[in-house]
Amino acid sequence: MKVFKFGGASIKNSYAILNMVKIIKCYKNDPLVIVVSAIGKSTNLLEELLNLSLKNESLQTQLDYFKNYHIEIINELSSKEPLAIKVNKWFERLEELLTSNSKTVYSEYYDSVVSIGELISSTIINYFLNENGINSIWADARQLIKTDNTFQEGKIDWSSTEENIHKYINDKNGVVFLTQGFIGSSTENKTTTLGREGSDFTAAIFASSLNAKSVTIWKDVPGILNADPKIINDAVLFKELPYQEASEMTFYGAKVIHPKTIKPLANKQIPLHVRCFETPELEGTIIHDCVLTSMPPVIIYKENQCLVSFKTKDFSFVNEKGLSIIFDALHQLDMPIHIMQNSAISFSACIDYNSQKMEKLMEVLKAEFTILYNNGLQLVTIKNYTQESLEKYKPKVEHLLEQVSRNNYRVLIHAN
Ligand code: ASP
Ligand code: MG
Repeated sequence: MKVFKFGGASIKNSYAILNMVKIIKCYKNDPLVIVVSAIGKSTNLLEELLNLSLKNESLQTQLDYFKNYHIEIINELSSKEPLAIKVNKWFERLEELLTSNSKTVYSEYYDSVVSIGELISSTIINYFLNENGINSIWADARQLIKTDNTFQEGKIDWSSTEENIHKYINDKNGVVFLTQGFIGSSTENKTTTLGREGSDFTAAIFASSLNAKSVTIWKDVPGILNADPKIINDAVLFKELPYQEASEMTFYGAKVIHPKTIKPLANKQIPLHVRCFETPELEGTIIHDCVLTSMPPVIIYKENQCLVSFKTKDFSFVNEKGLSIIFDALHQLDMPIHIMQNSAISFSACIDYNSQKMEKLMEVLKAEFTILYNNGLQLVTIKNYTQESLEKYKPKVEHLLEQVSRNNYRVLIHAN
């Protein structure tokens, strides 16, 4: 069994979907699980619709845009009525959710609305694969991937997920299972999502559960590079990477793979290929068990950062008890620390900026600490730095927090 994942960009229009079919046809005799994201940027559109509905503002223009975007692709791909009818059912469900008066808790509502992107894309692609002679079965990821009740960031219940996947998916030659990335369901069978860009993680969950031979993520880049080629023009491609390097790169903010993807694969020694869907003849990058004799510097920019400082109110030093209170609050709110520093009476941590979570954090800790924060920051990491790379890539602006270890140089600056 092999697992393929196609992200939003690799299915963004009818041309891209035709290209996807071409790729799948080359693997026709392999048992395959195919994981798809929502088409193009439709998850962002769904987020916009959700916010408009919460503000009770008019939805019509955005809703029409969302529908027409999909309808155009359907019309270009297939002239068959049944597909339009199937997709229309999802449009109706979306409208019903957006206009209902019983909007529950934000994150629960978010998951039920935003998951529709993947439900639609998988419906379209499954239909089109069958129309093109590929025996494809539409698998509802909500019935296979079980999570806890944390909406927007569901934590996987591995044992029931593995059991469900085993029961449902079998490796019959010539059959592909087509499923949705990013979504699952809670203990109460409500739809949950796994965090933005979580479809890579879905592919890893299927692969791990099935002890698959490999996972391939088809992307709009030639593989994994040592920097974002849109920012740094002499970026170099890795032919192979050890699991640990790849995992660390995602921790520091490399966006090429979702950070939760590597662990389940590394634990089962399943190789992960990152390949370009436009030039499938290229080999891309393979992440597996290997040793590299030298690693070039890797330059990573993490956006939307915020530096929060917690200051004691009575001039006492911030001790371990105080730190444990801060860490516990950050953990409860799912606000991971990317870099931190302590001084006599204050402690600073760099985290992703999220206004709602920040309000909650201040609420929880305001009795104990005076809390100040700066947002609009960028965290720059030069992993495996050399003197030359430091001279070239170290930002020449004010440094809000800087840390140097034997391997990594990291600095927090104002984003420009
Ligand atoms: N469609 C979801 C998102 O855009 C999941 C994914 O693309 O992986 O966040
Ligand atoms: Mg996406």
